[in-house]
Amino acid sequence: MILAVLDDSPAALDMLAFAQSLGQQVDVATFGGGDVDDLAKRGVRTLHRITHDELADCAPAASGDALAQLIEHLRPDGVLAVSSDAVTEAMAHAAAIAGLPLATNCVEVTTGEPWLLTRVRGGGMLLEEAELTATPALLTIAQGVSGDIGAGPVESCEVREFFPELTTTQARVVERASRGAGMTLATAPVIVSGGRGVGSADGYRVLEELAERLGGVVGCSRVATNNGWRPHSDQVGLTGTKVTPDLYLACGISGATQHWVGCMDSKVIMAVNTDPEAPLVRRATYAVIGDVHEVLPAVLAEINARSKT
Ligand SMILES: Cc1cc2nc3c(=O)[nH]c(=O)nc-3n(C[C@H](O)[C@H](O)[C@H](O)COP(=O)(O)OP(=O)(O)OC[C@H]3O[C@@H](n4cnc5c(N)ncnc54)[C@H](O)[C@@H]3O)c2cc1C
Repeated sequence: MILAVLDDSPAALDMLAFAQSLGQQVDVATFGGGDVDDLAKRGVRTLHRITHDELADCAPAASGDALAQLIEHLRPDGVLAVSSDAVTEAMAHAAAIAGLPLATNCVEVTTGEPWLLTRVRGGGMLLEEAELTATPALLTIAQGVSGDIGAGPVESCEVREFFPELTTTQARVVERASRGAGMTLATAPVIVSGGRGVGSADGYRVLEELAERLGGVVGCSRVATNNGWRPHSDQVGLTGTKVTPDLYLACGISGATQHWVGCMDSKVIMAVNTDPEAPLVRRATYAVIGDVHEVLPAVLAEINARSKT
């Protein structure tokens, strides 16, 4: 039996169809939700509904702990989950608790001994062929991957409540703040992004001013977030946001692979860097070789001068 772990996203239903295309009985597990009528239409006979007060705010460690207990209880051949941030994190916790490997972002799967997998790696830059010998096989399926056909409808879907024992102190959501209105990294047409070369939190003032003048927002590299110069919500890259602006202005950013995968789909990339050999300079549409502390104020001064005439 394969256990498909769903959240309430449309991608989860694609993943369910994908799991069903592997030719085994598929049960579904959810963290409290699940529309049984819809699941019956999709050929699911059993829903294991994980139920516990601690899960109300979706603390991933608690979800992972609960999932590990369900896996131990059901002993499925494989557990497939949608690769949303929250479910992937829960799967990682479950895998660590169960002492099993977790293969993330799979796009092709053949069950057996071993399971044969194709996974997306490097932020989408390469595909890896892998073999997985552990039982159960724990996988997340890349978003957008679906089965050709799901299973035919069944008369009804039985709900089996599963009450995990969660004894450890778990992280909880204590406050929810809504994001302010306006542009985000994901929607901005222009991103003025800064890295180590900007030198300090104060150094971003000129980037903020330039972003405002160009109708965009500020982004940054992981060095900037690690140094506390910018919040993580500004970070572009593998562990930040993937961006697709019309113009990505990369200031004092070397262009490490983990940063590049986040900005490579920008329409135009301009790098400002003192090093003509920096990877981002070599890959950029345009590059200015110079110090950001001289180049950016000069660009701003020019924009300001032109807007007066
Ligand atoms: C698992 C993992 C995930 C990661 N995820 C991300 C991610 O999501 N996003 C990300 O950005 N990184 C990520 N990283 C880190 C990444 O590998 C790099 O370390 C990081 O991107 C480097 O940031 P940087 O370009 O600002 O710094 P550096 O690599 O140090 O580059 C600084 C650049 O600034 C130039 N420079 C210095 N002074 C000036 C100046 N005065 N004027 C102009 N240019 C100057 C230098 O020539 C250099 O090219 C990740 C790493 C790992 C291991």
